[in-house]
Amino acid sequence: MKHALRLITCLFFLLGITACSTVQTTSSGAIGIQRKQYMMVSEQEVENGAIESYQKELAAAEKKKALNVDEQQVTRVRKIANNLIPQTTAFRADAKNWKWEVNVQKTDELNAYCMPGGKIMVYSGIIEKLKLTDDELAAIVGHEIAHALREHTRERVSRAYAEQLGLSVLAIVTGAGNEAMKMASTITQVTFGLPHNREQETESDRIGLELMARAGYNPSAAVTLWQKMSQVTGNAGSDFLSTHPSSTNRISDLQANLPKVMPLYDATKQ
Ligand SMILES: [Zn+2]
Repeated sequence: MKHALRLITCLFFLLGITACSTVQTTSSGAIGIQRKQYMMVSEQEVENGAIESYQKELAAAEKKKALNVDEQQVTRVRKIANNLIPQTTAFRADAKNWKWEVNVQKTDELNAYCMPGGKIMVYSGIIEKLKLTDDELAAIVGHEIAHALREHTRERVSRAYAEQLGLSVLAIVTGAGNEAMKMASTITQVTFGLPHNREQETESDRIGLELMARAGYNPSAAVTLWQKMSQVTGNAGSDFLSTHPSSTNRISDLQANLPKVMPLYDATKQ
């Protein structure tokens, strides 16, 4: 009883001191992202959890002999990611010190993600089934990098805390079990199971657009990417769309924002 009371007190204490943390994850860029974010977990906790979660994904892929099997494809994805990564400083200076990793998993699934701290994975299915051009692939990777820059996973973990979704999340708050392990499993759940909300999607679309423009990739390819996505996936859905819900105005929002980033793209061609 005493133990339970202490746990409950601890829970409220933790919630109390962390509930109102407002953070500025990125500067607004040419594209102008301003939204305030509220976090209930630290950046460090989330990054540590992501390292562990990503390691597990790599190990599982390795076990299936599905990690970085197509050398040409890996080289292509890494080249594009490595052109985009230096552009992240337009949004946050610390990102250049992140321990970025870029890998490709062989699978028919359509998916890609960038876990907190710059842990990128692109599934071969999305490249092959959508027959992505370099510019379109840059749009996908740029969109994923933008989620990491804006710390959308930290935000989603925070939201899960607030809504007390999932026992493992509650377990972290109450301090039960190995906290780092629980955070890693929460990151995995969030990465593969919890959709981004519409605001997060819009932010990542816009920041992704600017990243690709700055890296010299034609930002209008973001539009053709989403057109292909809707053609190929139709109503069947995909893992990518389940965590990156599309909306009817996504393409028009991208088109409306193109004029803001075209000068950045043009500048790379001079
Ligand atoms: Zn997204």
